[in-house]
Amino acid sequence: MALFGAHVSSAGSILKTFERAEEVGAEVFQFFLRSPRAWFWKGVSKELVIKFRKKLSEFGNPVMVHAPYLLNLASPREDLRERSVKVFLEELKACDELGVDFYNFHPGTATGISEKEGMKNILRSLEEIFTLYEPKKTTVLLENTAGERGDLGKNFEELSLIIRSFEGVKIGICLDTCHAFAYGYEINTDGGFSRFLKEVEKVGLEKTKAIHANDSKFPLGSRKDRHEHIGEGFIGLKGFENFLRHDYFRDLPYFIETPKAGDMDRVNLERLRKIYSG
Ligand SMILES: [Zn+2]
Repeated sequence: MALFGAHVSSAGSILKTFERAEEVGAEVFQFFLRSPRAWFWKGVSKELVIKFRKKLSEFGNPVMVHAPYLLNLASPREDLRERSVKVFLEELKACDELGVDFYNFHPGTATGISEKEGMKNILRSLEEIFTLYEPKKTTVLLENTAGERGDLGKNFEELSLIIRSFEGVKIGICLDTCHAFAYGYEINTDGGFSRFLKEVEKVGLEKTKAIHANDSKFPLGSRKDRHEHIGEGFIGLKGFENFLRHDYFRDLPYFIETPKAGDMDRVNLERLRKIYSG
C-alpha cells in the first residue's frame, strides 16, 4: 500500500516533525537533521534519541532524513570532500540511532572537473564512509538529480555504477519525479514511461525505495530543478498516474517537496491519493 507524505520543517527540534506531519495529514515524512545550509551541528543527545524513538514507534510509518545541501562527495577540493564525508557519517550514524528508515542525499556535483572524475570522487567517498560505518537500520538513498551544473546521479548509468559498487550495503534510490523529467525522462506519456522503465531496469526496479513526488516548473530536458504543485507543472497528472498505477511504484512511500503555500501540502497529497485510488 502506498503511503503519502511531505517534507516537514524540523526548526526548533526534530521532535516537532511528528506534529507538523500530522497537521498536513502526512503518513510518511522527510526532514533535515540540521539547518541544510550550515556545516555546524551539535548532534543528537541520548535523551533526544529516546524521545524521538518513542514518537517514531507511535507514528509507525517510515521517515526519511534529507542530507544537507552543502554536502558534495564529488568535490575536487579535498577539504570540502573530507568535510562532506564527515558530515555524512555523523548524520548516517544519527539516523541509525534514531531509527530513521532512509537517509537521502544528492550524489554530488562535478565542479571544475570532468563528470568521470566527479564519479570517482563519489565512489571513493562512499567507500570511506561504508568502511568506517555500515548502517544497520537506515537505508542510504541516492537521489537522482536534474543534471544541473555538473550534478551527478542524473541518469541510471551513473546511479547503477554507484549502487553496483556497494553490494551488501543498505543502499538504494529515491526517485525524484521533477528531477527525472527535467533531466529528460518523459515520464508523463505512455511511451516515455515505458522507455523510462527500461532505464530503471539498469539498476533493478527493486532498488527504488521511495519517491519524491514533485511536478516541474520547467519543461522536459530543461535540467532545471524547480518543483511545482502536483498536476500544475509540465509533468501534469498523467506523470503521477504512470507511477501510481504501476505494479511496483504504486506501493512505495511518496514524499512531496512542493512549494509551501497555505494548505497546499494537504491539497497535493489529496491529489496523489485520488490518482492512487482512482
Ligand atoms: Zn527531491
